[in-house]
Amino acid sequence: MIPIQPLTFSFDLRVGDIVVTPLTDGYLDPDFKFLRDISDENIDLLLKLGHRDGPPRASVNAYAIRSGGRLFLIDTGSGDTMGPTCGRLFESLASAGIDPADVEAIMLTHVHPDHSNGLIDLQTNARLFPNAEILLHEKELSHWFDDAEMSVADERARRRYFEMGRRQLTPYIEAGRVRTFTDGEILPGIVAVPCHGHTPGHTAYQIGSGPGAVLAWGDTVHVQEVQLPFPDVTVLFDWTPEDAAASRRIIIEKVIAEGLVVAGAHLHFPGFGHIARNGDGYSLVQRPELLDMGGGAPR
Ligand SMILES: [Zn+2]
Repeated sequence: MIPIQPLTFSFDLRVGDIVVTPLTDGYLDPDFKFLRDISDENIDLLLKLGHRDGPPRASVNAYAIRSGGRLFLIDTGSGDTMGPTCGRLFESLASAGIDPADVEAIMLTHVHPDHSNGLIDLQTNARLFPNAEILLHEKELSHWFDDAEMSVADERARRRYFEMGRRQLTPYIEAGRVRTFTDGEILPGIVAVPCHGHTPGHTAYQIGSGPGAVLAWGDTVHVQEVQLPFPDVTVLFDWTPEDAAASRRIIIEKVIAEGLVVAGAHLHFPGFGHIARNGDGYSLVQRPELLDMGGGAPR
């Protein structure tokens, strides 16, 4: 019998001289009920059309970016806070040959458990990326630290989003390692594209420019089988659902118009693809030939 070898390559995607490496934190099998503005029957139908059965599985992806000898990360996974199917980001980093101490900057698409709970060790409050600066939209930081907003949030949102978000970010704030932005180029070759609604400061990040550039769009789409054909479908934990739906259409139209490659936090791993128009909605066009299996990729 052939022994199973450990993973020794990663699914790199190149944008000019920049290498984008997808990292899996695992997946979630949320209840249908988290999708809004659509019936359970229609969700079921759409999943079946996508040859899917059961709950609307969502991958949890993060991305590493290697550019000019520098190493950045987009999102950090869920730590050990979201059950046994998640929390694998650090194993993914190891598989990709990445030492967390070498990460220079972490761009957060937003502060939610599956994106920002990998920032600290909850036992010790130690920063798991000791040399990283955290970058996030100024509205995202101010919102989760706003006591008035927290006081009117329900118990679940207060605990899971406000208190945990503060806990994850505070060690970095105390170390002087949090930087906020509004838009524009935030790191060399990386541009922040605010797309608020899912959270107050939800942001996509464009890596490179021109056709073939990558747009890491965070939670623009949670369930691709449902929200691409029906982009007005929102989710239970959208902060302002109407804005989330409007941002989704704006971002998708940008992706189509500019020929961008999407890197989706919840698209099926590795989460890369183009978007095509399909009736009144959209569909994902996967581009497997874009992937580089690491043969001589500059690290
Ligand atoms: Zn998410």
